[in-house]
Amino acid sequence: MPLCPNCKYEYVDRATECPDCGQSLVDELPEEIIFDEKDWQVIYTSSFDYEVEMLKDNLESAGITANILSQKDSNFPTPGDLSVIKLLVKTEDAENALNFIEEFKKNLKTDEEEEDIE
Ligand SMILES: [Zn+2]
Repeated sequence: MPLCPNCKYEYVDRATECPDCGQSLVDELPEEIIFDEKDWQVIYTSSFDYEVEMLKDNLESAGITANILSQKDSNFPTPGDLSVIKLLVKTEDAENALNFIEEFKKNLKTDEEEEDIE
C-alpha cells in the first residue's frame, strides 16, 4: 500500500499523491520519520481527525512538533481502539503541549457556549 510520508496514511494502490498534503506517496516510510514511541507521548485522543489535525497545526505554529497516529496505523489493530486518533508530541514538549491544548479547549468551549445561546 502506498503511504504518505507526511501524514502517514495508507492509500489505495492506484493513488500516487496524498489527497491531504499533495506529497508523493512512498511504499515504505523513510526510517527517520518512523518515530520511536518512547520519545513521544500521547497528549490528546479524539474520534475526529479534523480536531486532531487542527490541534497539530496549532501546536506546530507554536513551535511544537506533533505527530498523528491514526486508527489506520497497523501497529494498533485493537478493535476497541479503531475510532481513536492519537496526537503525540516529544516527551520534552509534552508539558507545553498539554498547557497549549488546555488553553485551546477553553477557547473552543467558549465558542460552543456562544453558539448555544442562539
Ligand atoms: Zn499527506
